[in-house]
Amino acid sequence: MARYTGPDCKLCRREGMKLYLKGERCLTKKCPIERRPYPPGQSGQARRRKPSEYALQLREKQKVRRIYGVLENQFQTLFQEAERRPGMTGENLLQLLELRFDNVIYRMGFSSSRDQARQLVNHGHFRVNGKKVNIPSMQMHPGDEITLDTGSDKTEYFAAGAAFGSARAQPPQWVQVDTQAMNGRVLAIPQRIDVDALVSEQLIVEYYSR
Ligand code: SF4
Repeated sequence: MARYTGPDCKLCRREGMKLYLKGERCLTKKCPIERRPYPPGQSGQARRRKPSEYALQLREKQKVRRIYGVLENQFQTLFQEAERRPGMTGENLLQLLELRFDNVIYRMGFSSSRDQARQLVNHGHFRVNGKKVNIPSMQMHPGDEITLDTGSDKTEYFAAGAAFGSARAQPPQWVQVDTQAMNGRVLAIPQRIDVDALVSEQLIVEYYSR
């Protein structure tokens, strides 16, 4: 399935909550969900029936997929990997999503959204343990060191330092960031408490267990 290229804000309105897909704009009054907190389309404001269990599970899966910007088949593969690992499948899934390279870049504050992080990675601006990596879905591990590629610090984006210290949140405790040196390190595997998005991973497990 191809990547969604329509308006990001429609996705938030569809899910009925902020998914923080557009960086700093999401923190301003320009965020459309503040003014129109109902689904898009003509029937958006119509009274809705109570959603079925299946609908709830599907929406939760779609919501998490959209938050992390992951395609359907990639999401399924991650879920299968989460099932194979010991422990709770739902928590394993969130860990795998958090440890994607693009998400780690976002969490470190090198971008203002995951979408932007994916673009920066695609353009080869980062190295992992000294090796250039341009695969947004690559899994990071504790101890991995992320640095800017040679010359990337001279690009307009990084030279302005605009990406660093995103106003949205401080980096989580499982990463360490040096904004002066423009590098970071993964310190540990993120725990459930580190995932700030309001998600119910159990519904996703139920969705795939039907
Ligand atoms: Fe979602 Fe951000 Fe758009 Fe608000 S501005 S609707 S949080 S993508």
